[in-house]
Amino acid sequence: MTTETFEFQVEARQLLQLMIHSVYSNKDVFLRELVSNASDALDKLRLEKLRDDSLDADVSDLHIELDIDKEARTLTVRDNGIGMSYDEVGQLIGTIANSGTAAFLEELREAKDAAGAEGLIGQFGVGFYSGFMAADEVTLVTRRAGEGQGTRWTSRGEATYTLERVDDAPQGTSVTLHLKPADPENQLHDYTSEWTIREIVKRYSDFITWPIRMVPEAKDGEGAPEPETLNSMKALWARSRDEVSDDEYHELYKHISHDWREPLETIRLQAEGTFEYQALLFIPSHAPHDLFTRDFKRGVQLYVKRVFIMDDCEALLPPYLRFVKGVVDAQDLSLNVSREILQQDRHIRMMQRRLTKKVLSTVKEFLAKDMDRYRTFWREFGTALKEGLVTDSENRDAILAVSSFATTHSDDGPTTLAQYVERMKDGQDDIWYITGESRQSIENSPHMEAFRDKGIEVLLLTDAVDEVWVDAVGAYEGKTLRSVTKGEIDLDGEGGEKAGEEREKQAEEYAGLLGWMREQLDEDIKEVRLSTRLTVSPACVVSDAHDLTPALENMYRAMGQEVPRTKRILELNPGHPLVKGLHEAYGASEDRTELAESAELLHTLAVLAEGGQPKDPARFVRLVADRLERTL
Ligand code: ADP
Repeated sequence: MTTETFEFQVEARQLLQLMIHSVYSNKDVFLRELVSNASDALDKLRLEKLRDDSLDADVSDLHIELDIDKEARTLTVRDNGIGMSYDEVGQLIGTIANSGTAAFLEELREAKDAAGAEGLIGQFGVGFYSGFMAADEVTLVTRRAGEGQGTRWTSRGEATYTLERVDDAPQGTSVTLHLKPADPENQLHDYTSEWTIREIVKRYSDFITWPIRMVPEAKDGEGAPEPETLNSMKALWARSRDEVSDDEYHELYKHISHDWREPLETIRLQAEGTFEYQALLFIPSHAPHDLFTRDFKRGVQLYVKRVFIMDDCEALLPPYLRFVKGVVDAQDLSLNVSREILQQDRHIRMMQRRLTKKVLSTVKEFLAKDMDRYRTFWREFGTALKEGLVTDSENRDAILAVSSFATTHSDDGPTTLAQYVERMKDGQDDIWYITGESRQSIENSPHMEAFRDKGIEVLLLTDAVDEVWVDAVGAYEGKTLRSVTKGEIDLDGEGGEKAGEEREKQAEEYAGLLGWMREQLDEDIKEVRLSTRLTVSPACVVSDAHDLTPALENMYRAMGQEVPRTKRILELNPGHPLVKGLHEAYGASEDRTELAESAELLHTLAVLAEGGQPKDPARFVRLVADRLERTL
């Protein structure tokens, strides 16, 4: 048989280098990764056989075997599962498809020092390659169930690997690690020691639902020993709570999530009665890199009566809880259930409702009892959760109750709406907010001036989804959610006392200028009026109460929808010298060429002040330069 040599893909090579020079201090986890792969392979074979009985594969004794050879210094992890074809070995083992891993490598490159690198590498499951932490050469022999010929893959973890077809490979996969020389200083990590291997399996892989077997060393004078099963195989979700330690839950979490960090919370749920199921859900402690990408794999694992049915079962949780990981085991579903059927199944919908409420009530408990945990949760997943305010009207109140927002109130962090309402001033009827791209730009926006002046708290909303949910929600406990950049604002009833009468008089006085300016700016502006929200800036642009904001307009366009351009309203600050000056110039002269330019400049300044772009930057620069020149 011919042996072909191939090069690893670049990312794969980088990852291997990391494993070989093992920046990760806990090398033991390589065994967990290999056992985890073997367990997945057994799951897959059982399913495939279930779907296609004619598949030529033996499923009578599916198991994992560990084999130590002290003399040769090898450790072999063997399974009789699905196996891989020749092409699959090249694809799956020679390249890194997982986008999370690519992002991880990117971060790792940016991490300057070894400590930073170790912190990072501890966060990611790197699967098969972790074998190179313990071995200087790895051999994998595999035969895809149903196929006649097998494949041998070998590598020393450097730039290349070899592939070779073999005739006598058993069904499934065996991975043989040629262990690095023993470290006399560190007996604990001697992977040729039966005791060490037992300990590692107990610690990391006890819950694996397939038997993990090992033949113990023969004792003098006794016959060949029988294989022993090292793990208890008990599904954690089927055991009572006091039988399972947090560590065991965490190991299951790592197995299903490929996240090496501890989860933030473990949630158990048992439903009895006509439709019985158990669920074990995990809220991770960190949002994955790709949470907001289109191809993010969401969903929990679905089991039916302890039999693994599918990964990423989307039907069990709504999209805004896509960060939740876990296992749901249902008693009364068919083993042949498909994704399409699940989407329509009434029981599944009931499960989804129940699981959703359970997750939300867990977050509510964080908020009530453990502020640190709540803050972590909200920092990592708040943006995703807020999508539910738009899409899940049934749980809207529950989501709103656990949502928190940055605010102008000077205290130690985000505020809930309940806290905001408690702090509202006498006579304040509305909950005020401002949306925009960054906290800095909106906090300093001219729209905020009067609010700052009067000490009225404003929520600072900077996520794209904020533009949408505020409209969908509308009000909280009878208090309208109002944007500081929309509609006319009358703060007099809310802590100020500027006389309405005086304002009317001023409006009459300015009527000529305002009307004339509106005509000048007709392309962009539908009204020019005097402002009650400005104290420092000369002007600002605002939207009508029911108009789309510019950000929303852009969002719809980005999604490919056609939206008409909404004209906005220009507000002038009659207390500002610039506005007073314009007013005088308007009254004094017949030639208004210069004045028209000033109106245009004032409008562009207002657009800039809220973080917008001038319509014609070159013209704007020319006009300003011209004015500056005249001041010299
Ligand atoms: P991950 O398990 O995170 O996908 P790995 O590098 O551990 O990454 O494995 C890559 C792929 O190789 C797996 O997704 C699986 O398809 C295949 N694979 C690994 N080990 C086995 C095995 N023992 N049997 C069958 N396929 C395997």
